[in-house]
Amino acid sequence: MISKNDYRQILIYLEKKYPKAQTELHYQNSFELLIAVILSAQTTDKMVNKVTPNLFKLYPTAKKLGHANVLNVEKLISSIGLYHNKSKNIISASLLLHEKFHDQLPRKKSDLLKLPGVGEKTANVVLGDFYKIPSFAVDTHVQRLAKRWDIVSNDADVKTVQKELMALTPKKDWIDTHHRLVLFGRYICTARSPKCNNCEIISYCKYGQKRLGIFNV
Ligand code: SF4
Repeated sequence: MISKNDYRQILIYLEKKYPKAQTELHYQNSFELLIAVILSAQTTDKMVNKVTPNLFKLYPTAKKLGHANVLNVEKLISSIGLYHNKSKNIISASLLLHEKFHDQLPRKKSDLLKLPGVGEKTANVVLGDFYKIPSFAVDTHVQRLAKRWDIVSNDADVKTVQKELMALTPKKDWIDTHHRLVLFGRYICTARSPKCNNCEIISYCKYGQKRLGIFNV
């Protein structure tokens, strides 16, 4: 298990490296944020950013997207993974957003979770990014880092990862830390080839030390 002090040093480093960390998804309003985050599941933000301009041009509101033809939406987002399901989900979520929530993004997680395609991670991202409600979204990057840094065991589930990170991280930093971890995981501590050779926090990371064989751990 990582020491509290080592984790704090990692947070200080991440804050310096990514002082203004935020999502790399492009959006203009809460509706676009919600749809972009739903679309980002198991694909990259870059891929999502390529399809959303046309999607939002044709369907700029929850009402319009909620009444869209699924085949037309599929054509627009066919370059991203799981596009069949995602098309159905964003149409159904938009319809519900329009009819039940009067085009207002819900502020309550339990309401957000009623929207098709919205799971715990999406709800936390949206609540944090749009309403600045402290939440700690756990995606694949966050999970990987928590395991490499020995914050949780390798077989820990998402709930456990979230619980441990929330306990270790000051609440005021939950939203920013999520984004910082995502950026660090996306560009430095990547899944297949983490850049341990140039990593500035290797002294806190036994996984990286072991990988390079530089210390006896
Ligand atoms: S040393 Fe390697 S595994 Fe550890 S945080 Fe840095 S890049 Fe990731």
